[in-house]
Amino acid sequence: MKIYNTLTKKKEEFVPIEDGKVRMYVCGPTVYNYIHIGNARPMIVFDTVRRYMMYRGYDVNYVSNFTDVDDKIIKAANEAGVSASDISQKFIAECKKDMADMNILPATKHPLATEEIGGMLEMIQTLMDKGYAYAVEDGTVYYRTRKFDGYGKLSHKNIDDLEGGHRDIKVTGADAKEDPLDFVLWKPKKEGEISWESPWCDGRPGWHIECSVMSKKYLGEQIDIHAGGEDLVFPHHENEIAQSEAANGKTFANYWMHNAFLNIDNKKMSKSLGNFFTVREITEKYNPQVLRFFMLNAHYRSPLNFSADLMEAAKNSLERILNAAENLRSHMGSEDALTEKDQENLKIRDSFEQKFCDAMDDDFNTADALAAIFELVKLANTTVDAGTSAYAKELYKTIETLSDICGLKLEAEEEILEAEIEELIQKRQDARKNKDFALADQIRDELLEKGIELKDTREGVKWKRI
Ligand code: AMP
Ligand code: ZN
Repeated sequence: MKIYNTLTKKKEEFVPIEDGKVRMYVCGPTVYNYIHIGNARPMIVFDTVRRYMMYRGYDVNYVSNFTDVDDKIIKAANEAGVSASDISQKFIAECKKDMADMNILPATKHPLATEEIGGMLEMIQTLMDKGYAYAVEDGTVYYRTRKFDGYGKLSHKNIDDLEGGHRDIKVTGADAKEDPLDFVLWKPKKEGEISWESPWCDGRPGWHIECSVMSKKYLGEQIDIHAGGEDLVFPHHENEIAQSEAANGKTFANYWMHNAFLNIDNKKMSKSLGNFFTVREITEKYNPQVLRFFMLNAHYRSPLNFSADLMEAAKNSLERILNAAENLRSHMGSEDALTEKDQENLKIRDSFEQKFCDAMDDDFNTADALAAIFELVKLANTTVDAGTSAYAKELYKTIETLSDICGLKLEAEEEILEAEIEELIQKRQDARKNKDFALADQIRDELLEKGIELKDTREGVKWKRI
């Protein structure tokens, strides 16, 4: 299995630290809003990496954090007149709902920054004891970037080139740093902000320290794979390496994986341009599996463009797989034995399965892996009518296993979309207004059958999936 390693800029054979085990850390979202489809890309890509490694027999310990304290969360909380934790708790729950919709396996552990402050204080203290960090007059603690020899090794930047870009940063006053390159490990609280006590000042951690600490706590000082979107290479991951390797005295992660960005209509996705979609907006229109298929139809290191046309194409392709699966299921009823012809066809099946694995072994080339599934679909469509029930079962099992690695489910789920639920609720409200209680009850029962429970409250009708 070969992985492209950002650190060496090469595809390298994957050799785990411990035989049969993978320790993997994926930087998670900052939770101040619904996640957008850009955030969904690393989630889907690295979930697929994880699933393939499990298929290859590895025991994968997969950790992915939620950043639940940050300027954007505090800003959103102040605007809404609620606490920062009200905002982060709400959007963690919503994010988990989106992840379940996209068939993303829950991480072995989803640590929260606010629950790991003790570990952060400890690591900052270690860095200070070793001379890699210092506190200034107002209690801000900085990392002494130049002291770490390997700084720039992940992003392939020369430390002296970096300084040029940072010349304008303030280096005088109570928060003065020794060097413009130094980055924050701990910062003093501002009025009305969430804060914790520390030996340096009441305050909160910088962003980078949380991942170094959580990775160490849940996976150990050395891990196999550290992953995230390509925007994290610098400075986030570069700073994580500086912190972890200085504090632990060991190589932090052996393989660094980064997904390229998702754009919309060939432009950078941005809120201000209005070309910004949340996962929720998309999954109200499409089965979430379509989004998953769309993402995996490109290699994770290639930029990917999101457009309605491409989503329609993904929808049609997915349907071809689901139709073939349904056809196979309809042939699976009876008890019979494989014929010689079936055996021959199963050899062809084996070659496509091998093609799938070769593609995944080549730095997780999911586009080619999906192409191999389509070869199997074609094989199924052209041979199942003349084959036995046992053959249909064999072929189905293979397509099911390989689709499952991609997180695609073969049984089309009859899950009702949120937009439909809202529409039915409105219809029921109208019926009640018109005193058509029979129709109102009928709609309630219909929703219940689809796993949706309604509750009439003073703030209106609330619903939940049961
Ligand atoms: P954030 O909440 O901004 O820290 O992002 C969480 C994860 O989503 C990180 O791994 C980012 O690199 C990734 N990410 C954010 N925007 C995009 C995008 N447009 N395309 C791909 N990945 C993204
Ligand atoms: Zn991180």
